[in-house]
Amino acid sequence: MKIVIGKNSGFCFGVRRAITGVEEQIKKYKQVECLGHLVHNEVVTSELEEKGVRFVNSISEVKNNSVLVIRAHGVAENIYKEANQKNIKLIDYTCPKVCQIHKKIKEAANNGYQIILIGKKDHPEVIGSKGYADNVIVLESIDDIDRLDNYNKVFVIVQTTFSYDKYKLIEEALRKKYEKIQFVNSICESTRLRQEECKEIARKVDFMIIIGGTKSSNTQKLYDIAYSTNKNCIMIQDENDDRIKECKKYDTIGIMSGASTPDYIVENIVNKLNNM
Ligand code: SF4
Repeated sequence: MKIVIGKNSGFCFGVRRAITGVEEQIKKYKQVECLGHLVHNEVVTSELEEKGVRFVNSISEVKNNSVLVIRAHGVAENIYKEANQKNIKLIDYTCPKVCQIHKKIKEAANNGYQIILIGKKDHPEVIGSKGYADNVIVLESIDDIDRLDNYNKVFVIVQTTFSYDKYKLIEEALRKKYEKIQFVNSICESTRLRQEECKEIARKVDFMIIIGGTKSSNTQKLYDIAYSTNKNCIMIQDENDDRIKECKKYDTIGIMSGASTPDYIVENIVNKLNNM
């Protein structure tokens, strides 16, 4: 059995920075709170809980004077004010690329643009970015464009992990709808490279394995990309998924993991495949 592992697999820069940072903060403070899961990966989450991270869903759950970590996805601007009022010590691991999106949204709003944020409405990064101006419309798919009003000037920006192919289609359709429109393609380079490589590998192999948390949006996108090219494709969280056995029937297996998947999970899966 030949196994092809994507070079762009695993933690992206922003996630690696947040996880390493949180581990250092636990050593220093013994217990830290984190607003939402650091990554969409259940295995990583429970490991961090064991070490002393308490995950909370809202800043209202955080006690005054605690230490609160902001994850790579970032948060809305009002969270910083609330934390300040509660005398919470904030440790901010918002990915610098996400900070750039916040900055650009604020600038565009100040310059009178209607802002369209392309992304998934319920994704934490999108929820956070939306909180940097009052006039941000989230656009999830090309089908939603017809429902948009006519605006004088429009500024478009994108969730960092959005599908590049889908973005290009939406960009084309928006250009037809609005005369005065400005685009910032803020899809992260690591996302684009990962998606391109995923498609490439899925085309070449007999069977494709996508690894990542069940709630991870970027992993789900990798699965969609791979599946559109190769129907012999599964998405799994770790080596304990029984569907791995399907690989026995095939000669070449492709592997790509999402931005929130630690390297050791990929290694465990590869070891299991090699031992089959
Ligand atoms: S995908 Fe890119 S933008 Fe998002 S956290 Fe990772 S490095 Fe940052």
